[in-house]
Amino acid sequence: MKIGILGGGQLARMLALAGYPLGLDFTVLEPAADACAAPLSRHIQAAYDDAEGLERLAAECELITYEFESVPADAVEKLDASLDVFPPPSALATARDRNHEKTLFNELGIETAPFAEAHDLRTLQLAVENIGLPAILKTRTLGYDGKGQQVIRPGDDLRSAWEAIGEVPAILEGLVDFEREVSIIAVRSVSGEMAFYPLAENVHEQGILRLSTCLHDDSHQPLAEDYVKRVLQRLDYVGVLAIEFFQVGSHLLANEMAPRVHNSGHWTIEGAETSQFENHLRAILDLPLGSTAPVAYAAMVNIIGELPDTRVFLGMKNAHLHLYGKAPRAGRKIGHVT
Ligand code: AMP
Repeated sequence: MKIGILGGGQLARMLALAGYPLGLDFTVLEPAADACAAPLSRHIQAAYDDAEGLERLAAECELITYEFESVPADAVEKLDASLDVFPPPSALATARDRNHEKTLFNELGIETAPFAEAHDLRTLQLAVENIGLPAILKTRTLGYDGKGQQVIRPGDDLRSAWEAIGEVPAILEGLVDFEREVSIIAVRSVSGEMAFYPLAENVHEQGILRLSTCLHDDSHQPLAEDYVKRVLQRLDYVGVLAIEFFQVGSHLLANEMAPRVHNSGHWTIEGAETSQFENHLRAILDLPLGSTAPVAYAAMVNIIGELPDTRVFLGMKNAHLHLYGKAPRAGRKIGHVT
């Protein structure tokens, strides 16, 4: 079976690593020549909306998935016309737009921080009056790892904040004084079988995930599962879905969802019976899902920017090193250790 992946970064690489033991083969469509999934797959080097590249991908593969949510909607629709694309394109359309995803959460009874749309300076002013300050202005689309965000505090100049995010459609969100950030990774197969991993507690610095710790028997697990189940069912979702929450007391406020395998689930490679990567592939192929039970206490640290002396990790009992084959660059995720 040949699986096509839109995007050829570390998530595609880890999907391929999980897929080969299942007898699967991979082709990635990715514009970068040095895509880190390329050594493990056939690489179509083309833009995500390149018609010829998409045709080649559709001709070579039997099933399409993706490793990031900012793929152009037209490209996905083109592929969806001729073969199965999972997660469903409608889920992608919701998850790529912060306004759509937060509106969906609220419709499903899932709490979020208060938010309001801002599409110019005047609506930003209205949003500030509604939400109050401090607040955080976020571009509706294309934001990740804290990019496209600007905190606004009382007395700050709204025009500079609006300019800082590039004067594009945005939402203003109340700044949440959370106790912890947690995420749940869930998976649903074509036939509707569902499974949930234990919550991970996540620590971000400058908007980038640094540390994820798998939580055992956390008291918020049932609420997180209930919330993510509502989303899976509403979107008739297939594949792995991650939802990130702010925890405040007994409340979980949904911040965002990712319609794909997620950085806060990398610990599952060694820390769970079945990794999120293998379960994503099982789900889209409509195979029975593997157990999501943790096999031990596990935590994952991202390696960001530059590569430390890896002998330190390799000399640690029970530590597992994953390098993505990416050139070091400030702020770039180049590997992780579980
Ligand atoms: P995001 O791109 O929305 O995942 O935001 C990146 C990180 O910024 C989050 O993981 C939080 O640490 C922080 N952050 C985002 N939104 C808020 C908020 N409304 N209140 C407090 N912190 C936030």
